[in-house]
Amino acid sequence: MALCLGHPQHGYYMTRDPFGQAGDFTTAPEISQVFGELIGIWCAQVWQSLGKPPRFSLVELGPGRGTLMQDALRASRKIAGFADTVQIHLVEISPVLRKVQEKAVGPAQWHGSISTLPHQPSIIIANEFFDALPVKQYEQENGLVYERVVGLQDGKLGFGRIEAPSIKPFGKDGIFEISHARLHAAVTLGQVLKAFGGASLIIDYGHRKSAMGDTLQAMKDHQFCNITDSPGEIDITSHVDFEQLGVGFASGRAHVHPVITQAEFLNAMGLSLRGEALARKLEGQDREDFHQALKRLADDTEMGQLFKVLAATSPGLATPFPFEDA
Ligand code: SAH
Repeated sequence: MALCLGHPQHGYYMTRDPFGQAGDFTTAPEISQVFGELIGIWCAQVWQSLGKPPRFSLVELGPGRGTLMQDALRASRKIAGFADTVQIHLVEISPVLRKVQEKAVGPAQWHGSISTLPHQPSIIIANEFFDALPVKQYEQENGLVYERVVGLQDGKLGFGRIEAPSIKPFGKDGIFEISHARLHAAVTLGQVLKAFGGASLIIDYGHRKSAMGDTLQAMKDHQFCNITDSPGEIDITSHVDFEQLGVGFASGRAHVHPVITQAEFLNAMGLSLRGEALARKLEGQDREDFHQALKRLADDTEMGQLFKVLAATSPGLATPFPFEDA
């Protein structure tokens, strides 16, 4: 998965801009500007509760086309002081997407990994970043645990398995996914928040509680396809286990708030108010399309329930709205 997506020469993200109607998939910031704007307001609110630090990083992990950051910055400009002190840091492996981001966002500092983020208060956002970090799949059959692996079968890539005696059985047979890459990223981010202050907002599709199941998936032209077909030409992701992610942030010593759905987050942040204000400027089909886009973001049958939002903060920081501690 890591090679298919990130190989310097042949990796999926390294060679293309995969977003939108003409690409392979569409993400929330590309659906409506309101998504990024509400996140911008969230960031400004966190910055205020951090005591408006005179220097701070606004970090985005895997910014894609830079649309979210562009919309977030536009919305947060209305909060006095925020735009004057913000330093933009973008964590991105793709040279193609870095160029697109530079056009959208303007001056920023790029990083190839989370490990080089600056030592200062940080507000860290990520939409559909963690699903792209590689997972391992373990399979339990008759009480024995195997790791699923990919190899050559008759000249084509195919799935096989090897024994994984170091993994404790799960209690029942089936597939269980563990992402060391995601866990490691979450621990590092938690450490940054603890050491320098700040908050992190992670949005992705996935489940609140760890659960058995095979969620590895591949996409091309907005259709699901075979994971081992056309390596480097298709997007490969898996659902994010937010319980594991929370464990990562907590072991980095950040405070993790109970996960909410994308619908809960967007509705509480004022999706319909902002939507109405923008819709008033539109007419006919444009207005209809705009309302459809907002529905896509927040409806239960679309992205509203499948997508979850995790917030982690430096210890002692007020719980950021609309999160609530149990
Ligand atoms: N956040 C954007 C894009 C999501 S796609 C949006 O919502 O539209 C995933 C993004 O993460 C892409 O920008 C991709 O190039 C980047 N990416 C994938 N793996 C990465 C890694 N290991 N390190 C840094 N960036 C990565």
